[in-house]
Amino acid sequence: MPELPEVETVVRHLRPQLLGRTITGFTAPWPKVTAPAHPDAFAREVVGRTIGGVRRRGKFILLQLDRGHIHLHLRMTGRLVLASPGDEGDQRHVTAVVTLSDSHRLIFRDMRKFGRLGYLADLAPLEAKLGPEPLSPEFTAERFYQLLQGRRRQIKPLLLDQGFIAGLGNIYVDEALFAAGIHPRAEAASQSAAKAEALHRAIRHILQRSIEKNGTTIINFQYGTGSTGRFREDLRVFRREGEPCLVCSTPVVKIRVAQRGTHLCPTCQAI
Ligand SMILES: [Zn+2]
Repeated sequence: MPELPEVETVVRHLRPQLLGRTITGFTAPWPKVTAPAHPDAFAREVVGRTIGGVRRRGKFILLQLDRGHIHLHLRMTGRLVLASPGDEGDQRHVTAVVTLSDSHRLIFRDMRKFGRLGYLADLAPLEAKLGPEPLSPEFTAERFYQLLQGRRRQIKPLLLDQGFIAGLGNIYVDEALFAAGIHPRAEAASQSAAKAEALHRAIRHILQRSIEKNGTTIINFQYGTGSTGRFREDLRVFRREGEPCLVCSTPVVKIRVAQRGTHLCPTCQAI
C-alpha cells in the first residue's frame, strides 16, 4: 500500500500537470469509486471547478478547487495518471476519469478497486480523523514524547493509527522501529524520552530519504507512466526475514503484531 513517501511522490509528479486546469467532466466506470456519494453527485460538485492546489495530507491526495476539495486515497493498488489528448493510455482497471481543460484526462486505475475519491466543501471532517504530519515543523520530538504518554497500546499499532500520526504504514513503521531499537510490541507509554527522540528522528529521516528516492516499490507502486521508487535498496528489515541484521548479523525475523506481518531484529530490538 502506498504510504506517505509514495503519495508525496505522486503529488509532486502531478502538481505541475494539474495546477490551473479546469474540470470539464467526470465518469466512473466503477461507480463505487465515489462511495458513499453517487458519481453524478460528485460530478455536480466538481465539474466547472479549477484546480488551484495539489497536496498531500497523510496518505490522502487533496486537489484544492476554487470551491471545496477533492480527496483521493490510492489504498492498495490505485494509480493516477494524466493522459494527453489522443493518448489512449492503459485501459485496464480504470475506475474513474476526470476530464480536464485542453482535453487532458486524469485517469484513476485500480486493480483491487479499494481506492476512493470524494468531494469535501470543508476539510474539517478529514482533519478531525488525522494525527499530525510527521514531517511538519510542529511535529517535534517533545510533542511526540508527550503524545506517547498514557498510551498503553503496543507501539507498532499505535504508529499505524492514522488518528495518532498520519501517513505511516507497515514498511516505514518496521524500518523506523528497527532504526530506533524498539520492539514493535513494546508499550508506547513506557518509552523513555531518549527512545522517543530516537524514534522521532528515525521516522523523519526514513520518510525524507524515501521521498528523495521516490518511495518504495515492492510489488505495485508506480507513478507517472510506470516509474518506480528506489527506496527498496535502503530497507534494513522489511521483507528481509532470514537474512542477517545489517548491524549485528542476527537473522531478521517476521512475526505478527496486531494482524500485520512485522519484521525485526530480535537482538537490536529486544523487548
Ligand atoms: Zn541486529
